[in-house]
Amino acid sequence: MAPGCVMPASRCDIDHTVAWFDGGNTSADNLAPLCAGHHTVKHHGGWTVVQLPDSGGVVEWTSPYGRRYLVEPERRMPVFRAAEPSERAAPSDDRAAPF
Ligand SMILES: [Zn+2]
Repeated sequence: MAPGCVMPASRCDIDHTVAWFDGGNTSADNLAPLCAGHHTVKHHGGWTVVQLPDSGGVVEWTSPYGRRYLVEPERRMPVFRAAEPSERAAPSDDRAAPF
């Protein structure tokens, strides 16, 4: 999930985009596979890396000079959100629990 990288995820480190010690969660929207080289660049190369919210896993890298690169995942993560109260089905007798 780094610009131009073709390393298969199976050979990558799973990186917390927001580091665990900075309060980052171990959750799909904060994890991305990075090869060892790009993992080092992310942490020590002066780049800024963020996952775009509600994007299904798109990662934005910003170089030390301010150039931005968007990296699309091979397959997007489904974006889940809680249903609004108005979207929730109202309980009815035919939906009663079967026990
Ligand atoms: Zn790489």
